[in-house]
Amino acid sequence: MDFEAFFKSELDSLHQEGRYRVFADLERHRGQFPRATRHTAEGKRDVTVWCSNDYLGMGQHPAVIAAMHEAIDHCGAGAGGTRNISGTNHYHVLLEQELADLHGKEAGLIFNSGYMSNWAALGTLGQKIPGLIIFSDALNHASMIEGIRHGKCERVIWKHNDLNDLEAKLAAADPNAPKLIAFESVYSMDGDIAPIKEICDLADKFGAMTYLDEVHAVGMYGPRGGGIAEREGLMDRVTIIEGTLGKAFGVMGGYITASTALCDFVRSYASGFIFTTALPPTLAAGAIASIRHLKASPFERVRHQDRVKKMRLALDQAGIPHMPNPSHIVPVMVGDAAKCKWISDLLLDSYDIYVQPINYPTVPRKTERLRFTPTPLHTDADIEHLVNSLQQLWSQCALARAVA
Ligand SMILES: *Cc1c(COP(=O)(O)O)cnc(C)c1O
Repeated sequence: MDFEAFFKSELDSLHQEGRYRVFADLERHRGQFPRATRHTAEGKRDVTVWCSNDYLGMGQHPAVIAAMHEAIDHCGAGAGGTRNISGTNHYHVLLEQELADLHGKEAGLIFNSGYMSNWAALGTLGQKIPGLIIFSDALNHASMIEGIRHGKCERVIWKHNDLNDLEAKLAAADPNAPKLIAFESVYSMDGDIAPIKEICDLADKFGAMTYLDEVHAVGMYGPRGGGIAEREGLMDRVTIIEGTLGKAFGVMGGYITASTALCDFVRSYASGFIFTTALPPTLAAGAIASIRHLKASPFERVRHQDRVKKMRLALDQAGIPHMPNPSHIVPVMVGDAAKCKWISDLLLDSYDIYVQPINYPTVPRKTERLRFTPTPLHTDADIEHLVNSLQQLWSQCALARAVA
């Protein structure tokens, strides 16, 4: 086989469909988020980042930076091993306690990313619980899908956020089979929120465990940043709460929190936890500082919601169609892959606004969009510049405006 020709032709088809991914080469500037320098073949330009998952700007927070400096000076660069063989640093232990406390659970277990936490935890539960059936929301993240697939257990996909469909599918399954319902709180592309209480009610009715991905909610919702389940007083009803340290907490890593026995079980059996070098102590230290800060400080959350509201209002006034939802994610709908890319290229080249186009397979075809994530650090002037720029492009591109 001509391997090179194969790779190139596969890439060509991505180009033809307009969904070849081009990464923006950015240099973020601490103290100046959301500003960054973008490197290109033609030189460099300063841009405003409008699609970061560092939702609260904690990646530049002085307390986080200070904790990371202290940890690197104190412990050095890497962890030095897997968690089992010399790599467990005291910062890891403290971080797991901090996370258990955040979600009101007995224990926490950290992984090298949120992706790994979903893949390893769901995969291990699927493999090790005899006869387990996992009921998975149709819009679950790729890491959950891969984890469930890796679990090789029976899986049942239920319609996104549809309680009737979930109930019908639970009722149709063997009443004696152990069951687990896997879902997210805030869904990252549409920004909609799951009916957590009702899902837990169904779980109780059918004796199922619940697995909740709060990746797009931790740090941002609830009085201490515990997520949507904290805000709604439901944390004790969810069996496993999973989250990331890489989005609102501004660092990197993932985790689950649950009972002591469940976390110990995953710790003891999950290949993706056991056979990999532990997170560097600096990351654990930074995450601890970030979580502690956000447990005590409502300031970032309040300002975040204020910015989101301000941006939606400005879009409405300009007649730019955006998907309404109860979260901090502002999807501006374009509905065409090529146009979506064209608009984002022009925003970048002519207006110094960086927003990555979101195309298939991340979202269904015909729902291509620009996914804006305003942070507490975006100013009124930033919002005004963005909406004015969009307005100009919208007329040029002859896109249907929302009826004002
Ligand atoms: C980003 C994401 C993850 C993975 O988290 P990382 O820490 O980035 O690996 C998991 N679940 C959802 C819903 C996500 O959007």
